[in-house]
Amino acid sequence: MNLIDSIAAFRSHSARLARPLGLVPTMGALHDGHMSLVRRARRENAALAATIFVNPAQFGPREDYHAYPRDLDADLRKLQDAGADVVFAPSAAEMYPAGFDTYVDVGIAERLEGAARPGHFRGVATIVCKLLTIVRPDRAYFGQKDAQQALVIERLNADLNLGAQIITCPTVREPDGLALSSRNAYLDPDERAAAAVLYRALTRARGAASPDAARRLVLAHVEAEPLASLEYVSVADAETLEELDTLDRPALVSLAVRVGAARLIDNILIE
Ligand code: AMP
Repeated sequence: MNLIDSIAAFRSHSARLARPLGLVPTMGALHDGHMSLVRRARRENAALAATIFVNPAQFGPREDYHAYPRDLDADLRKLQDAGADVVFAPSAAEMYPAGFDTYVDVGIAERLEGAARPGHFRGVATIVCKLLTIVRPDRAYFGQKDAQQALVIERLNADLNLGAQIITCPTVREPDGLALSSRNAYLDPDERAAAAVLYRALTRARGAASPDAARRLVLAHVEAEPLASLEYVSVADAETLEELDTLDRPALVSLAVRVGAARLIDNILIE
C-alpha cells in the first residue's frame, strides 16, 4: 500500500492503478462504518484508493476542527489490512495553498445540516470536487449516515460532470442502534448510553401517521433523555429535502442532537 501526501505524486502514481478504481474519502479516525465502505469498494473494484483529510473548510469557527480525533498510524494499518492500494493523506496547505479562492456551492446544501452549520457543505463540496478531480475514480463510496452529504455529492458529481459513480452505503450501527461516528469518542459512558436515544427516536417516528406526528414523537423522545438536547428534527422529501406535510413519498427522517460535547446526527428513510 502506498501512502502519498502530494497531489503531483498522486497524479503520477494513479496512472499505474488498475481500473475500475474505487475511492473512499474519509476524515480518518476510521471505524467500522468507514470500513464497510472500504470493504465494499474493495469487492467492486480492481484498485482501491482511500483519502484521509480532516478538511478545515467544512468546520465552522466554533466547531471541533482542532479536537477532531486523528490517528493516522491506526488508520493506515486498517486500510492496509482491508487491501487498499493507495492512501492519499495531504496536508491542509497542500489542499488549500496560499491564494486558494474557489469554492463550490450546491443548492440542496442550504437545508437541514447546511442551515445548522453555515458553510459546512461548501467546504464538503469543495473538497470532494478536488478529491474526485485528483483521484479520478470510477466509483466513489459515501455513507447514508450523512444522508444530505450524499445528496450534495451526487448533485455536484452530476452538475460538474466529475464522472464518478456515486455509491451510498447503509449506516453501520452499534448493537443499541447508535450510528458509528468518529465523534462518539467525545462521549463519556453516561453520555454514550444516552446517545442511543437518536436511533430509538427515529425508530419511533417510523410508525407515525403524518410528518408532524413523527416530528412530535422524536421531540418527545429526545426530551425525555436528560443528557440529550434536540437541535432539529426533519421529515423531508428524500430527494429534494423539502419538509413534508404528508407522507405521500419516500421521506428522510433526520435529526441532530447534542450529547455532552458531541453533536450527533442520524437519519432513517421511510419508503
Ligand atoms: P467522515 O470520516 O466522517 O467524513 O466519514 C467518511 C465517510 O464514511 C462518509 O461518507 C460517511 O458518511 C461514512 N460514514 C461515517 N459513519 C458511517 C457509518 N456509521 N456507517 C456508514 N458510513 C459511515
